[in-house]
Amino acid sequence: KTVIRIENLKKVYQIGNQEIQALREVSMEIKEGDFVAIMGPSGSGKSTMMNIIGCLDHPTSGKYYLDGYPILNAHDDELSFIRNRKIGFVFQNYNLLPRTSAVENVELPLLYAGISAKDRRRRAVTALKSMGMGDRLLNKPNELSGGQQQRVAIARAIVNDPVILLADEPTGALDTQTSAEIMGIFQELNDKGKTVILVTHEQEIAEYAKRIIRFRDGQVISNEIVLNRRMAK
Ligand code: ADP
Ligand code: ADP
Repeated sequence: KTVIRIENLKKVYQIGNQEIQALREVSMEIKEGDFVAIMGPSGSGKSTMMNIIGCLDHPTSGKYYLDGYPILNAHDDELSFIRNRKIGFVFQNYNLLPRTSAVENVELPLLYAGISAKDRRRRAVTALKSMGMGDRLLNKPNELSGGQQQRVAIARAIVNDPVILLADEPTGALDTQTSAEIMGIFQELNDKGKTVILVTHEQEIAEYAKRIIRFRDGQVISNEIVLNRRMAK
């Protein structure tokens, strides 16, 4: 099953009378259960690509189907509906609400989705336990280590059972050992069938993925299977 199909996608930013071609003619297909790392130098279009895949931004032209839904002409309210149900986000800086407990942070996407309070709590606790955070439910982010905060963020990203998990430099703020643990979590989720898309500028981190797509100047320059895949466990 194809979860992402992108055809001849272009993104042009207009600054005054200057046009910046952030994505030139990007096509790619990502199948259910894939684990893709997106790499490329600064300014090559990775963030633009992630924002479009994550339904945070519109492409200028081309086609984008997410889980069969055509995204190009979707209105902003449709985009946020699709985003809230189909995509889990993980960021470099965790993006947890600071004065809010781990369990309440994880409940947030369920609140957006209109799930009852009782079911929110039950599902958030289950997600945190699956991240090894069952004994930290009531801790606030500043009472947790970076690795623990990222586990909470991953719990929040998966609690809705999204179609894809988008991780933007998820180990960028973590030491080597903790990075390996977090990549192990992504591999476990992927083993259970979750489609994962990761942006990283670190080759070592990219090698935890099954496939590496490289960008340069707004174009895909290579799309290759990782031959000696790094396994966390
Ligand atoms: P990367 O994530 O690989 O560093 P980006 O997607 O951020 O690349 O940027 C691709 C190109 O688009 C760059 O030339 C960048 O300057 C430009 N760009 C990105 N976002 C904007 C924006 N909001 N407005 C104008 N230009 C942008
Ligand atoms: P809406 O567009 O529905 O008003 P938001 O733009 O506030 O909602 O984002 C809702 C969803 O988008 C969240 O549930 C989350 O999955 C995702 N999201 C977007 N940006 C962030 C962020 N900075 N931190 C966490 N989640 C985010």
